[in-house]
Amino acid sequence: MIVVMKAHSNNEEIQHVLKFLQNHGLSGHLSQGVERTVIGVLGQTSNAGLPSGIGGITPGLEDSLEGLPGVDNVLRVSKPYKLASREFHPENTTVEVPVACVDGGSVTIGGKDVVMMAGPCTVETETQLMTAAEAVRKAGAVILRGGAFKPSTSPYGFRGLGEKGLQLLAKARNEFGMAVITEVMTPSDVAMVCEYADILQIGTRNMQNYMLLDEIGRTNKPVVLKRGMSATIEEWLLAAEYVLSQGNKNVILCERGIRTFEKATRNTMDISAIPVAKTLSHLPIISDPSQGTGHRHLVGPMTLASIAAGTDALLIEVHPNPDEALKDGAQSLTIQQFNELMPQAQAVAHAIGRDFITR
Ligand code: PEP
Ligand code: MN
Repeated sequence: MIVVMKAHSNNEEIQHVLKFLQNHGLSGHLSQGVERTVIGVLGQTSNAGLPSGIGGITPGLEDSLEGLPGVDNVLRVSKPYKLASREFHPENTTVEVPVACVDGGSVTIGGKDVVMMAGPCTVETETQLMTAAEAVRKAGAVILRGGAFKPSTSPYGFRGLGEKGLQLLAKARNEFGMAVITEVMTPSDVAMVCEYADILQIGTRNMQNYMLLDEIGRTNKPVVLKRGMSATIEEWLLAAEYVLSQGNKNVILCERGIRTFEKATRNTMDISAIPVAKTLSHLPIISDPSQGTGHRHLVGPMTLASIAAGTDALLIEVHPNPDEALKDGAQSLTIQQFNELMPQAQAVAHAIGRDFITR
């Protein structure tokens, strides 16, 4: 349920509504937009014991709310996810990430401009990571990617360097002033990964690892939530709801391709998911055309398409020598390819009135 306040409602009226909700055992989530203030209501509002907006709402309560001073109207949220929905929170959410190498010391994800996150799929060696970091930074990336804990389809695949990989990422951050994004796979590692990373990544295979979602929800770290490879957009937004409902508001969605019958690509990059997610949710959304295609010659075109479709950032795999990569070499760009892609990406961003934050 959502309480929409009148355009000129004052703080006293807003506080009165919040108090009213509290007195009825409900929690009010305030969202103060430029145009309007809305208050999302969570908790049991029905006798059927169902969450608000799903079951029937106690009629008396809705009427009472509508009668409070400053209230314009009361709406029901039609989606099973609440905190993640745009109905509940009409304004775009932005996520602030500290980045030493840019003016002002931070970048906004989900704001006017686009952000480039790039680096190797996996942290392999110090030289590999530093070479990749230096090159992508030079080309305009401000966030460094690199997996230290790698989910591997086969148990014989490389599983990552673990904490040693995190230490190398931290070293690269110190050296180049970039922020670091890296995957965390299990609830018991969350605290440790938080010490090293600026953004946590939840991998496609863990989108429905609810214990992990809960644990990350209890932190305040920005988190990139990859879409499960077989997840519908609704399931993905419900996974986001897990993190949000624990109190972490810094959720960023990431489209990374889904499983279809098509075999020409590793996954089918669902570009339409970008504007769909933007319509259904207020959360920022980024695009990973590397996992999304599986082939490096497709990464450029899907990067440009993602920008045109409204992505807020890109997550791209770049390796100094992809043929020797321990993981995902076939989809990793060479440094030269990345250098050639950045100006094209900037041109598409300009065409839709956006820019890349590069310094
Ligand atoms: C990755 O980013 O390297 C990765 C493993 O991603 P995903 O979880 O989308 O497969
Ligand atoms: Mn990868």
